[in-house]
Amino acid sequence: MYFIANWKMFGGLNSLNSLHKVLKFLKGFKKNKFVKIIYCPPSTLIRPMSKKLKNSQIKVGAQNCHENETYGAFTGSINPKMLKDVGAKYVIIGHSENRKLGETNKLINAKIRSALKSDLKVIFCIGETLQEKRKKITKKILRQQMKLGLRKINNSKNIIIAYEPVWSIGTGLIQKSSELSKTITFIKKENKKYKVLYGGSVNPKNINELRFVDNIDGFLIGGASQDSKKFIDIIKKTYN
Ligand code: PEP
Repeated sequence: MYFIANWKMFGGLNSLNSLHKVLKFLKGFKKNKFVKIIYCPPSTLIRPMSKKLKNSQIKVGAQNCHENETYGAFTGSINPKMLKDVGAKYVIIGHSENRKLGETNKLINAKIRSALKSDLKVIFCIGETLQEKRKKITKKILRQQMKLGLRKINNSKNIIIAYEPVWSIGTGLIQKSSELSKTITFIKKENKKYKVLYGGSVNPKNINELRFVDNIDGFLIGGASQDSKKFIDIIKKTYN
């Protein structure tokens, strides 16, 4: 099972102290070898976090990247090669918070290709908005996001799909696990080779239900991942 922490635009150097608790927990955790943990902090923390987690089982990822593989005049941007250079092994691409700012499926596809070329593994986010859910076009939207986002890509080993209903992110709203099971199974059927995670308001309480969702390979966790106690609790309860 994957547990991916998305710290979003939170955290400074002192936030890295909280990782000790997670490392200590993992040492004593019997199911340790089944757990894959990836922390995606803001870009400013990738280097120090990678140093801190060197020789541990926790990997570090970025939260986005530029689509250009090479250096260029793109003020404020960071390309996959630069992320790799400071220790990132993964990168989140297509997060709804970036789609909202204008990231299109086409751009997301270019970013994924670029990241793969630079040897980064990709956490590819898809998900419907509340409006789309109400219109009952969730499957159509997900199919389109996957078709265009993964266009001309044949590297399923290095891509993890994260299904994140936009209306669930940071809202505390979660769909019934039976409904979620159907969506995760649908995504898996469309893309047989990919691992599929769920993201959206995962916390130590609802994990008791979410862990039973059929075919789920793990979770992408935003808010709750910034609190190491909650993050540890989520992992522990998944294996209860
Ligand atoms: C996310 O931003 O990817 C996310 C899942 O956030 P949260 O857990 O806070 O809903």
